[in-house]
Amino acid sequence: MEYKTHERLLMPVSRLGMGAMRLPMSGGEIDLAEGTAMIDRLMAAGVNYYDTAYMYHGGKSEGFLRKALIERHERDKFTVADKMPGEGSGSLAKAKEIFATQRERLGVDYVDYYMLHGIGKPGYISFRDSGVVAWLEQMKASGTIRRFGFSYHGSFDDYEWVLSQRDWDFSQIMLNYYDWSVGADTLYHTACDRGVPIIVMEPVRGGGLTRLPENARAPMREANSAASEASWALRWCASLPGVYVVLSGMSNTAQVEDNIRTFNAPNPLTDDEETVIQKVLTAMKDLPLIACTECRYCAGCPQGIDIARLFGAYNEYVRFASSWYMMHEYWKKPEGGRADACTECGFCEAKCPQKLGIIQELKKAHKKAAELKR
Ligand code: SF4
Ligand code: SF4
Repeated sequence: MEYKTHERLLMPVSRLGMGAMRLPMSGGEIDLAEGTAMIDRLMAAGVNYYDTAYMYHGGKSEGFLRKALIERHERDKFTVADKMPGEGSGSLAKAKEIFATQRERLGVDYVDYYMLHGIGKPGYISFRDSGVVAWLEQMKASGTIRRFGFSYHGSFDDYEWVLSQRDWDFSQIMLNYYDWSVGADTLYHTACDRGVPIIVMEPVRGGGLTRLPENARAPMREANSAASEASWALRWCASLPGVYVVLSGMSNTAQVEDNIRTFNAPNPLTDDEETVIQKVLTAMKDLPLIACTECRYCAGCPQGIDIARLFGAYNEYVRFASSWYMMHEYWKKPEGGRADACTECGFCEAKCPQKLGIIQELKKAHKKAAELKR
């Protein structure tokens, strides 16, 4: 395993981090047996950064890490990253309650890396004004959290302002080769300029960069037929000097093994390999995808529209020219839950970190689903 050190981070961090948000499932629940085997394999390979959040898997991700990792491995051999959700931003009492629940779910006395979850400028202000930031600084001073950072979902323009508000230990940002030229580069360079180590989330863009259409995948296959699309995406992120940990939301043992292979030796992309990535991007420019990462931050539509599912299905159709969901499942929903029930209230667009024009994109996806209906 490749490691990297930074004065603001704990122990040499493994370049590969485990994101516990897309865990294996069985019968509607987290598959503890497979998940535990995955954690054991990652620990054996030297992965020491495990990322979770209060809301992941409907609140069950933290408990999973307790059973699979924390209760089964030596506490000084790994670090856990957790996050204060937005619902703790308006009230210090609520934030304290959430943090107590998190420690109980995790079964830990301290959390190694603790973040304000998915903030932008308004989110930071809310956490600050309700006293949560000052309280978490006290938690850090007492050792209850060991490092204090934030994951960012705000505008590119506000990122520098948030970074400037305090002496952050680290920042978690969305970064991948597909989004680099549309603003992710701004986040990266801003963090580097301030000397804040970067933890990367969404390096394969919610899995999208592992499902490239044939014409986009071809340059990778020609350059190295044995390398997975995920490995190209992860190596691209890890090649950036300001990046310390690349999180991968692994869902099965095969992904674990592929990721371990990728990070078992230092292997930044060569200039020729960078050219391959550029060829992939050129091929993908022509695809009319909806730029949704399926993060579900827009969940909660009052009309019951499952925006992420429909956009994901639309993109599947564009990439693979087929979609069971668009043809069948979508039409089993009650009429109120389909995109044509949208009242254009704007709730979802205000939540979208990708700043998507969701209302217009829904119309496009619904039209395509209607064309495909059987
Ligand atoms: S704008 Fe439409 S899709 Fe978005 S939350 Fe409102 S009703 Fe739902
Ligand atoms: S529409 Fe935006 S908020 Fe909703 S799932 Fe897609 S990227 Fe996330």
